[in-house]
Amino acid sequence: MSESESYAFSADINQLLSLIINTFYSNKEIFLRELVSNASDALDKIRYQSLTDSSVLDAEPELHIKLVADKANNTLTIEDSGIGMTKADLVNNLGTIAKSGTKAFMEALSAGADISMIGQFGVGFYSAYLVADRVEVISKHNDDECYIWSSEAGGSFTITEAKDSGINRGTRIILHLKEDMSEYLEEKRVKDLIKKHSEFIGFPIKLYTEKTTEKEVTDDDDDDEDEEGDDDKPKVEEVDEEETKKEKKTKKIKEVSHEWEHLNNTKPIWMRKPDEVTQDEYVAFYKSISNDWEEHAAVKHFSVEGQLEFKAILFCPKRAPFDMFDGGNKKKHNFIKLYVRRVFIMDNCEDIMPEWLQFVKGVVDSEDLPLNISRETLQQNKILRVIKKNLVKKCIEMFNDLTENEDAYKKFYEAFSKNMKLGIHEDSTNRAKIAKLLRYHSTKAGDEMTSLEDYVSRMADDQPGIYYITGESKRSVETSPFLEKLKKKGYEVLFMVDPIDEYAVQQLKEFDGKKLLAATKEGLDINEDEAEKAAFEEAKAKTESLCKLMKEVLEDKVEKVVVSNRLADSPCVLVTGEYGWSANMERIMKAQALRDATQSAYMMSKKTMEVNPTNSIITALREKADADQSDKTVKDLIWLLYDTSLLTSGFSLEEPATFASRIHRLVKLGLSIDDDDDDAADNDMDDLPPLDDDDDNEESAMEQVD
Ligand code: ADP
Repeated sequence: MSESESYAFSADINQLLSLIINTFYSNKEIFLRELVSNASDALDKIRYQSLTDSSVLDAEPELHIKLVADKANNTLTIEDSGIGMTKADLVNNLGTIAKSGTKAFMEALSAGADISMIGQFGVGFYSAYLVADRVEVISKHNDDECYIWSSEAGGSFTITEAKDSGINRGTRIILHLKEDMSEYLEEKRVKDLIKKHSEFIGFPIKLYTEKTTEKEVTDDDDDDEDEEGDDDKPKVEEVDEEETKKEKKTKKIKEVSHEWEHLNNTKPIWMRKPDEVTQDEYVAFYKSISNDWEEHAAVKHFSVEGQLEFKAILFCPKRAPFDMFDGGNKKKHNFIKLYVRRVFIMDNCEDIMPEWLQFVKGVVDSEDLPLNISRETLQQNKILRVIKKNLVKKCIEMFNDLTENEDAYKKFYEAFSKNMKLGIHEDSTNRAKIAKLLRYHSTKAGDEMTSLEDYVSRMADDQPGIYYITGESKRSVETSPFLEKLKKKGYEVLFMVDPIDEYAVQQLKEFDGKKLLAATKEGLDINEDEAEKAAFEEAKAKTESLCKLMKEVLEDKVEKVVVSNRLADSPCVLVTGEYGWSANMERIMKAQALRDATQSAYMMSKKTMEVNPTNSIITALREKADADQSDKTVKDLIWLLYDTSLLTSGFSLEEPATFASRIHRLVKLGLSIDDDDDDAADNDMDDLPPLDDDDDNEESAMEQVD
């Protein structure tokens, strides 16, 4: 007997195991789905290898999954002739290397998730402990000897070499069932479960079953009667003695035999006609390929014929995967299983779906690709490019179908709006179509979100374009001074408050022939009538000298100071250049720790101060400045206007302390506190130098206190 080596589970896995074992949870049956799905994955892997090297199948040519329920020993065995695991695989995959999903799953559980979601997090194997108190995994990989992994959880597992397992290649999982789990030894229960969860597995699933048949035999066959023993041999027992006595020549006997019963229908569902597949079958198929516990939100089953032929079923899930936009997860992945003429090729083919559609799940079965295609040649394959184009088209159609049901689309959009926006950014060919799927809050849409199409239908004839404002949240943009005039004119403004909107809108540029106009950027077209223009020109002429003074005071803080018709109520705002970053973009970029500083210097666009000539503060300030250009209060007020504009325009304050000092001075003024009466501690206010002086800064102000 070989010696066992003992290994400790990683801390995360240990914690997961005790959760699985100790949580009260009634839907334990999912363990079978998880283990069968692992078996199927292992079979896919060996079949894929065999496409380029048929000798990998030599040890065991048949690809199958076999189930044996052994009542005498209280074990359920799941065996596959898949790729198997080497000793190192057993140690790494089943216990020592924790995956990101381990923690994520436990977090999801404590947030109310259900144990049946385990497969989504890539730790499905451990669900075996829902029903078993001891699990043995006996595995034979072509590159290694056969080993047994065994564990009763409890912190550790052992690895032992298995000399005569009888496995030529693949994995046998023996579940030593907990006392109250004997239902999983019942033939009917197992069959029902396979039907329910694993019907669409692409390999035959066979259950070792017992058949009893009645047979009439002549009395002479009596010598068979006492035979006992090997289960595989027919067992014969007497049935009806009374009858045999009357008719001495023949008697009925029960014959017990065993056979492997094929449980799943392996005709691939995508090969069937869409109108012959029921909704329930789609749901079952979706769950089997996706590990999802919920049904899909939408499905598209189609075939493409002509120059190139393929069949596909695409599913849109209800929720995004837990790691969809996980920054650390740089690896591009998708959920499309690629088949070539019914043979599974791979499920992580990078180029079959664009990044923005990586949440779509499904299968594609091509008639044209070569069977032995390698990952590398696949990347440049023309057929694959055409397939991809078609898949994108069908996905967009599928999302469009969803828009017909308002509630369903709302849920879809909550889960995948970022993907649609990424699509706008990435996919220039389909940009216009994807744009129809976008939804935004707006100044007119209330609590609902509006589509661009609906926006356009509400547009006034003379409206120059589609107005939007970007910012941190709906609340922060709703009250922005940039909207004042647009609201007054009755023009609707879209609220773009998702960071990715900044990127998407740069690419979108227009919709349905209407330009998208940023309410916060320079040169906004507001479309004023002649009277408005004339009034504006007059006010503008009067305010020009103040603008000049403001620029002198603010120096390079602003590119220029101009009179603007953008504002209705506020005295001034800070706008950014048409091609530089908006205030919101500046905020987003500042939050990205690893951004490239040279790029930000280049993109951080110079701000233009826009002044509202009809605002009472501006008119009063203008009069004061006209009277005395060097008035200290005027300069101070200009700085205050600049700082408050930073805030209302969505920027952050550069020197909050200086800003506070100026405000305090105003507060004192309001409270009629005479600076001369102040105690020493407050003298910094008093001594605060004119803030426009170059060499004066906060530090020097502090020094003067001492
Ligand atoms: P997942 O299958 O989602 O990766 P699991 O916890 O179910 O997560 O399995 C962990 C790993 O163990 C798998 O990725 C696979 O490498 C290996 N494994 C599990 N079951 C089998 C099997 N029947 N045959 C070969 N390898 C297996």
